Amino acid sequence: MAKRIIITIDGWSSCGKSTLAKQLSKKLGYVYVDSGAMYRAITLYFMRNDVDWTDKKEVKKALKSIELEFIKNEKTRQGEMYLNGENVEYLIRELVVAEKVSDVAAIKEVREFAVAQQQKMGAKKGIVMDGRDIGTVVFPKAELKIFMTADNAVRVERRFKELYAKNPNITVEEVKNNLEMRDYIDSHREISPLRKAKDALVLDNTYLTPDEQFEAALKWFKEGM
Ligand code: C5P
Repeated sequence: MAKRIIITIDGWSSCGKSTLAKQLSKKLGYVYVDSGAMYRAITLYFMRNDVDWTDKKEVKKALKSIELEFIKNEKTRQGEMYLNGENVEYLIRELVVAEKVSDVAAIKEVREFAVAQQQKMGAKKGIVMDGRDIGTVVFPKAELKIFMTADNAVRVERRFKELYAKNPNITVEEVKNNLEMRDYIDSHREISPLRKAKDALVLDNTYLTPDEQFEAALKWFKEGM
């Protein structure tokens, strides 16, 4: 059997990380893990339960009541996020969650909780994980690291189209503000800020179609084998 590796995909918000991760995992028969979904689910739990996340004690207590699990949807063949047994895959994509997630993801205890689970998921390799700190912190020894980027305007447009399909009341301005805010907080936080790992390959997909970005990444994968 071919050697199975760990592939990490980090980068700015809405630059196609999950699209690429899904393409690669499908082609290679690897597990795909959307680490952002975990931070979003924790945020949803905090919001629903009025957890004051500026209070360490409350955060620690709340984390003890959170169980996260990815369960495969047999129709789409994609893993979906479950929070304490409830499918929250769609709820966690809403803007109300996106508005708070970067603050929650900056908390040390929250990161320790999520990273420990992510590292366990990668123990057997054969995994593609996307996020912000996967190549730098979660799997610093990963065999293939990709750092994705794209022009701001293109990213806003892509995310707007995605969110508008579910909520026609949403405005471009709201989406733009949210992306800019998250990118700022994610790259300026003290713990595990968004950074390109030294050994990551940069993929700018501003002018690439999904097929072209996939071909570029697959070529790197094959070259490394
Ligand atoms: O990937 P996605 O945009 O769904 O991630 C939502 C948020 O979760 C990010 O804006 C960031 O604040 C946080 N996140 C993180 N570390 C990761 C993945 C996501 O801090 N590895």
